[in-house]
Amino acid sequence: MDWMRELYSEVVLDYARNDKYKGRIEGALQERDRNESCGDEVNLFVKYENGKVVDARYEGVGCIVSQASAAMLVKIIKGKTKEEIKEIMDNVKKMMRGEPFNEDVLGDLVVFSGISGIPQRSKCFYLAWSVLERIYAKIERGDRS
Ligand code: ZN
Repeated sequence: MDWMRELYSEVVLDYARNDKYKGRIEGALQERDRNESCGDEVNLFVKYENGKVVDARYEGVGCIVSQASAAMLVKIIKGKTKEEIKEIMDNVKKMMRGEPFNEDVLGDLVVFSGISGIPQRSKCFYLAWSVLERIYAKIERGDRS
């Protein structure tokens, strides 16, 4: 596979530029982080009610990879239980490390399956997921916001 071409494919660009995954959610769980090496920022909002994600959005600036990853994250966690989120996070980690992972669980995220070979881009890709890890910890604790 021509991995660099895949990295900037239409799919990735569409996610990065799509406003429907963006915005703030009042009263939601919120965490943010920054990738200093690239200037990427992701501010993530997750509303978790009755055992699942009822809404999710993000605000962010930065490179295409970091923003597309955040948009895909927002899309894939909607409607998911915390157990399903854990499974997605575990598979994202495996993919990033270049280990075998379950493609069925990751959907469109598999366009990033070559990310493990590009350490600089890995940081960009993983930014949103490191933010989700913190939100997941809040969900585990039962935090409301
Ligand atoms: Zn970046």
